[in-house]
Amino acid sequence: DRTTCWLLGDQLNPDLDVLDAADDVLLIEAHGFADRRPYHAHKLTLVFAAMRHFRDELRERGHDVTYVRAESFGEGLDEFFAERDPSGGDGGDGPRLRLMRPASHGAGERLRELVAERGGTLDLVDNELFWTTPGDWREWAGESRASDDGPLVGDDGAAERSYRQENWYRHVRRETGVLMDDGDPVGGEWNYDDLNQETPPDDWEPPARPTFEPDELTRETHAWVCDRFDTWGNDSLDEFAWPVTRGEALEALNAFVRDGLPAFGRYEDAMVAGEPFLSHSVLSPAINLGLLDPREPVRAVERAYAERGVEPGGYDPAEHGASGGATASLDDFGDGGDGANDADGGDGAESTDPAPVPLNAAEGFIRQVIGWREFVRHVYREAMPELADANRLEQGRDLPPAYWDGDTDMRCLSEAVDHVREYGYAHHIERLMVLSNFALVYGADPAELNEWFHLGFVDAYHWVTTPNVVAMGSFGTDVLSSKPYASSGSYVNRMSDHCADCPYAVSRTTGEGACPFNALYWDFLKENEETLRGTGRMGLMYSHVDDKDDAEWESIRERAARVRELAADGEL
Ligand code: FAD
Repeated sequence: DRTTCWLLGDQLNPDLDVLDAADDVLLIEAHGFADRRPYHAHKLTLVFAAMRHFRDELRERGHDVTYVRAESFGEGLDEFFAERDPSGGDGGDGPRLRLMRPASHGAGERLRELVAERGGTLDLVDNELFWTTPGDWREWAGESRASDDGPLVGDDGAAERSYRQENWYRHVRRETGVLMDDGDPVGGEWNYDDLNQETPPDDWEPPARPTFEPDELTRETHAWVCDRFDTWGNDSLDEFAWPVTRGEALEALNAFVRDGLPAFGRYEDAMVAGEPFLSHSVLSPAINLGLLDPREPVRAVERAYAERGVEPGGYDPAEHGASGGATASLDDFGDGGDGANDADGGDGAESTDPAPVPLNAAEGFIRQVIGWREFVRHVYREAMPELADANRLEQGRDLPPAYWDGDTDMRCLSEAVDHVREYGYAHHIERLMVLSNFALVYGADPAELNEWFHLGFVDAYHWVTTPNVVAMGSFGTDVLSSKPYASSGSYVNRMSDHCADCPYAVSRTTGEGACPFNALYWDFLKENEETLRGTGRMGLMYSHVDDKDDAEWESIRERAARVRELAADGEL
């Protein structure tokens, strides 16, 4: 029987096993979603350009590819079926398609129905682009929602069961053997995060972000995107430097492992004005499109540690500039699978020897991918559809206009929003401790914040924003953390250089000119006392709440109300 492998726009990997057994390939470029809301121009350009490059690469590799551009998957399937003999060629059932289970909740079943309505069959198989399977999760969690009565997240946002990333992470390390030494974690500890909370000195230069010049196909795609859709954010291609092919994604990975990894851990939580990327890998767009298999960055980092590793904290990037010392040729950390992996420092010139990789950097990075990324994917699977609307703290304010126009005097917020507007990217701490922390203490609706992330970020898909934004960032449910990631201005002050140049005073909580984060934070704790006081690890925070007298609370409330008013009017 002829079987067509249907690949979605976030499954763009030419080395998938699912391709091996297929007779031909179907790609449907469906546009309707982007008509409904204004996505970042770079996000649409990235997704559609990556799909079109992938089509060409598959054809070059000898695959028979049907590429359909349509409003919806339904229309795309109509076109595909019209070209096929509806009997499937042998007088039997209609065309048979095979699809890796989509990451988005309910999409697999929806697509199966669409195919069935047209007389075909759709087989869903495990999605190879995640390292762990739903079966692995069930084995670890011991049970899953499928086996018990009610939803995991109740109407009030409270979770029936909650999961801890750290436990999952250790389990996956053991199962995969990554960074393991005879059953124990390499170095003796599972986690070196206490070393990963420094800020760089003023004269430290982060490594250059690897950039990929848009080719003609990407340019054409971008011009079409700008013409066809209402978009948000930077619509010039000047700052567009994302990898759009597997070869480029492998180059980006090499560049990170060579240049970014040594300082990744130490400065992972830092925020520096004018430096959106610091030592972050900037690989999430490529991983989420499928251009990289998540095993690849993990194994590459593990290998780099094996070759260049030093003890935790054993390399201080501040003493060395952006890269290491002597001139030498570079090792290649990619998988070498398709010959596209030729990163060599940019232009073939010899470059400096890569710097050592301290264990806290390697472990920290690996935890992000096999810990957090795999974890949030499974939590999403288990907790949907309730997760998307979870709103345990019953917050409902509209997102302040500064999220759309970046127009605010708050340095931290304007900087983070500008990174999103300019690049469709902000790093993890900006996402968590500025963009979602502000929305949380301000009282914004988690679902609206989720949508904002979804539209604005080049790496955003429903499966990844929803757990991160609704659960982790907004504490819409306690399914993955026992306390909210809420903080006052002091966290931003400790981890960034923003406060020194900000017109708001981080040292003050009340009165005109006080840092908006401060009054909002205390007011948030007070307002949500009933839900939060008894929650894990909030004791210390509430001891500070208890220390404040009535007069203090009155000025905090006044300032918080004023800040909310200014923010809502776009005047903060
Ligand atoms: P690095 O700091 O270099 O980390 C390495 C990799 O780890 C990332 O590429 C990513 O694949 C993975 N990773 C790390 N943390 C997470 C996490 N919490 N969830 C999933 N993957 C993780 N990630 C997305 O991929 N898409 C999103 O839309 C997204 N939205 C987020 C929204 C909020 C409010 C928060 C708090 C986090 C969000 N994240 C999202 C997770 C994380 O912030 C990004 O993956 C990361 O910033 C991407 O940049 P990077 O590739 O430079 O990451």
